Amino acid sequence: MTRVEVAAREVRITNQRIRSSGFPYVKGLADFDWDFQPSVPRAEIEELATLRFVERAENVLFVGSPGVGKTHLAVALGIEAVRAGREVRFVDCARLVEDLEDASSRGILKKRLKYYAHSRLLIIDELGYLDVGSAGADLLFQLISTRYEQRSTIITTNVGISGWGRVFGDDVAASAIADRVCHHCHLVKITGRSYRLKDLPRDGPVKP
Ligand code: ADP
Ligand code: MG
Repeated sequence: MTRVEVAAREVRITNQRIRSSGFPYVKGLADFDWDFQPSVPRAEIEELATLRFVERAENVLFVGSPGVGKTHLAVALGIEAVRAGREVRFVDCARLVEDLEDASSRGILKKRLKYYAHSRLLIIDELGYLDVGSAGADLLFQLISTRYEQRSTIITTNVGISGWGRVFGDDVAASAIADRVCHHCHLVKITGRSYRLKDLPRDGPVKP
């Protein structure tokens, strides 16, 4: 193979890995409008994009209301990790819990936990949009415990840690999960307007 062919092949493999990682869309940091969301700590995000946090098995927690860019930033970091040859899995929190519950009922929980525990970077999106329930909380706890200090996890959530008791329906389970997520964690709180509503006037939709 010529050098051009080798390069083309690498691009193909990377694109294939990006497709199979489960991202809801493909957007990078270059697509992020920093001026629109000044509460996002740009230097910290750019430091995260060096992937040192992945080498150190640290976590990242994006907290903020809908549309502020949590998933976009998580996807962007995930794509950086894929480009660097790391195995990345992106999964919606409700779907993850559903999948683990299903595996548990079919007696293949261990195998399924292994599958998620294995990724160098696991992105759990939208924690808190749906309540998890105590069986789900227990399964999530098992997964987070396996990854603790071994592998990085990025979580996006619209619920601050103090509200996780409600999400998991159980304060003890919630603090056990939060404890492991938050030890060695980069907490990024984003406040501001939803990018989805950016074209609406600031005082709300125009009345007909
Ligand atoms: P959430 O915080 O609810 O996860 P997303 O990150 O999915 O929201 O953002 C919603 C949409 O707006 C996505 O299409 C995302 O790419 C876009 N978006 C959000 N913030 C920005 C931004 N600062 N610059 C460019 N696009 C943005
Ligand atoms: Mg989101």
